[in-house]
Amino acid sequence: KIEVSGVTKSFTVDGKVLTAVNDVSFEVQAGTTHALVGESGSGKTTAIRLLLGLEQPDTGMIAVGGEQVNGRSPEQLRSVWRHLQLVYQNPFTSLDPTWTVEKLVREPLDRFKIGTPQERVTAVRKALADVGLAEHLLSRKPAALSGGQRQRVAIARSLVLKPEVIVLDEPTSALDVTVQADLVEVLLSLQVKLGLTYIFVSHDLALVRQLAHTVSVMQRGCIVEHGTVGEIFETPRQPYTRSLLESIP
Ligand code: ATP
Repeated sequence: KIEVSGVTKSFTVDGKVLTAVNDVSFEVQAGTTHALVGESGSGKTTAIRLLLGLEQPDTGMIAVGGEQVNGRSPEQLRSVWRHLQLVYQNPFTSLDPTWTVEKLVREPLDRFKIGTPQERVTAVRKALADVGLAEHLLSRKPAALSGGQRQRVAIARSLVLKPEVIVLDEPTSALDVTVQADLVEVLLSLQVKLGLTYIFVSHDLALVRQLAHTVSVMQRGCIVEHGTVGEIFETPRQPYTRSLLESIP
């Protein structure tokens, strides 16, 4: 379970205080998917960075699986990241182009010194199988993969650490429509198979509808509406949520 309670984060830019995240609270139950939606600049990325411990909140508390994330040293954060992994938006830029798929997926295990060499090989193969990538791709480099395959490699790279939570930042925005649908299938089947919790940020409300169980709508750093995906899409209470939904093509 993820718990975010009364979290505020301000930045001072040119002497002016800008509150990027303002008294935000939400909970995400294990094995479910929570989406953060809202227009550009509403604080979604900052909320995610706080969740990962990459920013420290001014006030409030963040816990993942009962472990407090805020207030940790970089060294202590390493143990949090074993449970909480981020998949970047763009698999075209987030994967080192000079590395093979095998090295890309194995690297987190090397970095965290997990398992024997043989166990690492087995874990890499399992992560690849989990995302539905064939073993013959192990020796390829990112340039020789399709966009969808690269995004699967990015997910496999997170899975290899056996996290409980995966944070997805605009997971499909760099992919074309058919590849997006494919990725949704992968994410949904992984959730069922591994009991993963997802938290994701997206401008794509169609994707939110397909993936999310619960949704927080952010506006100017605040959560203005929170509910199940059914509540948000069928009976939005706030005018802002309605206008956001009306903007779907
Ligand atoms: P987008 O959808 O465009 O990514 P967002 O909803 O993720 O937007 P944030 O990136 O969280 O929004 O930004 C919220 C506000 O906080 C913005 O006004 C942004 O300029 C500001 N902000 C974010 N990070 C910093 C920082 N490190 N220093 C100063 N201001 C920041």
